Formats: sequence, structure tokens, C-alpha cells
Amino acid sequence: MTATYDAIVLGAGPAGSTAARELARGGARVLILDRARFPRDKPCGGGVTFRADAASELDLAPVTEREIYGVRISIRMGRRFERTSPRLLARMTQRARLDSYLVEQAAAAGAGFRDASPVHGVELDGAAVRVRAGSDVYEARLLIGADGVNGPSAKIIGLAPLSEHAVAFEANYPADAATMDDWSRVIALDLAGVPGGYGWVFPKGDHLNIGVGGWQYVGPTLRQRLSKLCRYYGFDESRLVGFRGYRLPLRRDDAPVHRGAVMLAGDAACLVDPLSGEGIWAAFVSGRLAADEGLRYLSGHVPDLSGYQRALDAAMRDEIVASRRLQAILQRLPSFSVLMLKYNGTFWRYMTEIIRGEIAYPDLPRKLGPLRHALDRWADWEIAHHRQLIARAC
Ligand SMILES: Cc1cc2nc3c(=O)[nH]c(=O)nc-3n(C[C@H](O)[C@H](O)[C@H](O)COP(=O)(O)OP(=O)(O)OC[C@H]3O[C@@H](n4cnc5c(N)ncnc54)[C@H](O)[C@@H]3O)c2cc1C
Repeated sequence: MTATYDAIVLGAGPAGSTAARELARGGARVLILDRARFPRDKPCGGGVTFRADAASELDLAPVTEREIYGVRISIRMGRRFERTSPRLLARMTQRARLDSYLVEQAAAAGAGFRDASPVHGVELDGAAVRVRAGSDVYEARLLIGADGVNGPSAKIIGLAPLSEHAVAFEANYPADAATMDDWSRVIALDLAGVPGGYGWVFPKGDHLNIGVGGWQYVGPTLRQRLSKLCRYYGFDESRLVGFRGYRLPLRRDDAPVHRGAVMLAGDAACLVDPLSGEGIWAAFVSGRLAADEGLRYLSGHVPDLSGYQRALDAAMRDEIVASRRLQAILQRLPSFSVLMLKYNGTFWRYMTEIIRGEIAYPDLPRKLGPLRHALDRWADWEIAHHRQLIARAC
């Protein structure tokens, strides 16, 4: 049986559900296919920054388990201090809840949804796309590949937006009421202990999510690092449950994210923030941009989908480059960075403004005046050096 739609969205994560919702709102006949049976969980800290919250254009209160106003910061599990903000920094949710809510919103806008439908084939046939899931065949005028870091769409259509990837490993700690009270409005970040990443504690309704992430080559050490982090915060390691690891994909500068009638969004387009590992914001933004361009294409206002690449680059390219540079410098000077966070109120304020989306990463070096050019060159050297090390290690 072949069913026909205006658009098919592959993957019902934040990128796919956002794209489908906006396409449906714009009047398109759209179907979302996901291989998982919903509600499905996904390895993720479930931290939705204020900027991601705003980019969702939804009320996320129904799936919020904690509101976060502060951060407990330490460096390599040394002495920790707390910085707070009078303004909301992030919402904590669980992906099983968030993603089900997002796909419900897409369905309410008119999108069709089939879960437990693993897509194994995508064919580009002139101006049409044919998608195979089990014995079912779907045709559409466009496809949005929002199938995450391990999904097939980028590979099937011959796009390779990945430059490098990080890995993260996490578990859940069922905590008692007193512990949850202590963590009710703060997260913890342990910096510089993992090359290319950090350790975290994110509070949920009745448990804490604890994780560590860093460059791909630290993968085999993450389990041990997680144990150490757990002991550092005084948690009983034997109570950890639900261990799982996953990749975080970083985009190659300028990498194409569309081909023919296909656009990639979210992790499939490798849009994770290199410094923080945040991917939900980029998933919301790219899902919306893909839908906007898709609607223009379906209505005949544009002859192809190349406007998506331009829109995505305008929204995110400088952001990803500046975040990767900042990461290279902070990794090289961790003690200095932590001292700045601890004692320099202006630096802390800038970081909260980035989290809230009031300024962007490129605004930070701009505030340094001409010194920023030297910092950019230094950061680019660090990044090139790091890539050589990775290439040699592989
Ligand atoms: C351990 C860890 C912690 C993280 N913590 C945070 C955090 O706190 N905050 C944050 O902002 N980001 C975090 N991230 C990143 C964030 O999880 C991702 O960037 C985000 O999920 C990307 O959303 P997406 O919609 O692009 O893809 P996904 O959420 O991965 O969704 C992709 C969907 O595609 C489906 N799919 C895959 N293959 C197929 C197929 N063949 N057929 C049909 N469907 C398919 C999957 O089932 C899935 O539902 C974390 C990542 C990791 C690994």
C-alpha cells in the first residue's frame, strides 16, 4: 500500500515534532514516522534551557519537573560554589514526557503519527521522496530527516554533516525527599575533569540524573568517571539505575543539510552545541526553519529547498563556531574560567544571558574588543591541534 502526503517527517524527537507541527499548522498534509513505540525515553539530561523553552513556542509547564535558578560549580571535583540567578535558567524534564507532549501538539495541529515504524529506505525520485517502513511505502513531496544521531536519513541520501562527536554516559539516582529538597532549584556542573566535556547533576521530580560527557575517545572511561562523580556528591553509587550512553554530533562547518527534497534537522544535521552539549534548542530552531522552508516550497514560492541551508547557517553557524572556540579556550584554561565564574559578576551574567538566549555566543568575544581576534586565532589553533590528535588516535 502506498500512502501519499505533502511531507513526511522521519523521527518524533523535538526536531521532528516541531517541524511536523509547523507544517501542519501551515496547511500541509504531514506524517511523522518513528521507529520507537511511544512514550519512549532517550538518553538525555532533559535540561531545557530558557532559550530552548522560548524556541519551543509552547507552554512546557505541563512537562516541567523542576525550574532551575542556580548552578553548583566545581573544577575536577574540587571545592564547589554556587551561583544563582533571579531569573529562570532552565526547565528540567524527562524525555519520555517531553517528546510525547511534543508529538501530541503536532497531532493536535493535524499531523499524522505512526510510532513503531522503523524507516529502512528513502529514495529520491525527481521531485518526490519514497519512504519505506516495514512493508508500508509512503510518498511525499518533501522529507524532513529528524531521526537523530543514529538515524539513517543523512547516510541514505549521502549527506555527511558530522565533523566530530562527543559521547555522554548517564544514570538516574532515586533520591530521598531531603536530598531532592537540597537540589530543588539547582543543577551541578563539574568542569574540566573530562576532556571536551563535564559532569552534571540534573534534578527531576523524584530522582537526580547524573552524567559525564566528553570527546569520543573518553568513551571507555565514562563508566568509571560516573562512579567517581557519584561519590564526590556523596551519593550511594550502588543505587544508580538506568545506565546508558549515546553520541552527541557536532556539525562540520558549512556542511550541506539538504539534498533534493530532503532537509535534515536537529541531531541528524549534527547541531549540538559544542560547549554545553545542548541539542534541544537547535532541534526546535532547525525543525521550525525546515518547516518554514518546506511550506514555501510546497506552495510554489521557491523552486527548491536551498533557502533552508541559508536560514540554518544564519541562525546557527556563527553560534556553533563561537561555542566551539569558547570550549577550546575554557578547556585550556579551566581554573581561570572557574575563577571568572566565581568572582566576576559580569562574566556570570553573560553566561546566564547566553543560557536565556538574550545574547549569543559570538557576542561574548565581541565584548572583548580587538583582543578577540587573538583569542579566535588561539582557539582555532587549539581546535586544529585537537583534530590532529583525534586523527592520529583513530
Ligand atoms: C547523555 C545525553 C545528555 C543530553 N542532555 C541534554 C540536555 O540536558 N539538554 C539538551 O538540550 N540536550 C541534551 N542532549 C542532546 C539532546 O538529547 C539531542 O540533541 C536531542 O535529542 C536532539 O533531538 P532530535 O529531535 O534531533 O533527535 P532525537 O531526540 O534523537 O529523536 C530522533 C528520533 O528519530 C527516531 N528514529 C531514529 N531512527 C529511525 C528510523 N530508522 N525510523 C524511524 N524513526 C527513527 C528515534 O526513535 C527518535 O525518536 C543530551 C544528549 C545526550 C546523549
